[in-house]
Amino acid sequence: MESYESLGPVGEGSYGTVLKCRHRESGRLVAIKKFMDSDEDKTVKKIALREIKLLRQLRHDNLVNLLMVWKRRRRWYLVFEFVDRTLLEDLEQNPNGLDLNTCRQYMFQILRAATFCHQQNVIHRDIKPENILISQEGVVKLCDFGFARTIASPSEVYTDYVATRWYRAPELLVGDIKYGKPVDVWALGCLLIEVLTGQPLFPGDSDLDQIYHIVKCFGNLVTHHQELFYRNPIFSGVKLPESSSTVPLQGISSVQLIVSQRCLDMDPEGRAQCSELLDHLFFTQDSFHIRFLEQLNAKIQKEHIENSTLPKITRSPGQERSKVDEKNSRGKDKKHPEDMDEKVNKDKIEKMKGKQPSQVSKHIHNNNNNNTFYLKVPFRTPKVTLHKTRNKIQ
Ligand code: ADP
Ligand code: MG
Repeated sequence: MESYESLGPVGEGSYGTVLKCRHRESGRLVAIKKFMDSDEDKTVKKIALREIKLLRQLRHDNLVNLLMVWKRRRRWYLVFEFVDRTLLEDLEQNPNGLDLNTCRQYMFQILRAATFCHQQNVIHRDIKPENILISQEGVVKLCDFGFARTIASPSEVYTDYVATRWYRAPELLVGDIKYGKPVDVWALGCLLIEVLTGQPLFPGDSDLDQIYHIVKCFGNLVTHHQELFYRNPIFSGVKLPESSSTVPLQGISSVQLIVSQRCLDMDPEGRAQCSELLDHLFFTQDSFHIRFLEQLNAKIQKEHIENSTLPKITRSPGQERSKVDEKNSRGKDKKHPEDMDEKVNKDKIEKMKGKQPSQVSKHIHNNNNNNTFYLKVPFRTPKVTLHKTRNKIQ
């Protein structure tokens, strides 16, 4: 951390803090996610390791770029490219929703990110406005892979899922231990409506209230979910919310209604896949998808070029290590065998500049022998604006 100057917190979670920092040598801005003591709390360890593992594996222009990882004094530190703002901040500034063009641009990119994750058999499990970062050019980056995981095999079950309630699919609310990619599609449907209207679709204040919101809008839960509800000890003695009449989604056009219904099907099997949604009329009418893809590539390219003209961050081994070595030499705070530093391989970055994700991924590998991992792209310098710390919606 000595190589970085802290500019203050940009996020505070249950498992640690995210600090906006400036790399002293190069002047570059980064976001450093500092987890709590991971040896004391096994959940923190699990979340940190999961995020590291998945983000190393997943490299895409619409996913946040992990630059460096280290563990020091039982805490994991993840260094990311700094991204200007979150979608939540845009929503807070636009209480009536974003304009249609911006909605389509953002949703299109979020869907590209989700499609990529799903193709890699990864479910994000916590898609929501504060986990969606937006660069100054308007490039969207999905972040926070602490709850993400690879799809379970048919005999495996998921046991440890506590993601944000408002975006939780019915199968999660009733406690189904077999779920899959459709949980992300449900969250994307909630997000789409929120982006269009400016208001969260189902702002439940308890799990039961969450089910009530959903049932009021879409009608009763499917039979299988009703059975799971009544078998779930959490709801013991509680009557399942039912609805005789529904209040349909309002304030959106018919095309918007149709695309959101493809995400918000009560039956997970009935929901569209992310790749199908990218081809929906919502994006294809007036050839938006073709025009925007060209614009997006230009934006991404512009950011790549801006980055490549700036000095790179390199870890100065003396700087990061000096204090640890000093202490070790005094016999205190012995370096844990798990401790490691991972650094950017500059040569690889130079070679990979300007390449598309599919090409780049071939060049990414983690060499465990020298603890080096290679990055997709160099990162850019966004404007210096300090983010306010926001309360998380749980
Ligand atoms: P948590 O598990 O605490 O939710 P996140 O990865 O979502 O961790 O980060 C928390 C917050 O920190 C985000 O909502 C966002 O405001 C901010 N943040 C995270 N990563 C970045 C980044 N790369 N650039 C700028 N801000 C970030
Ligand atoms: Mg988060």
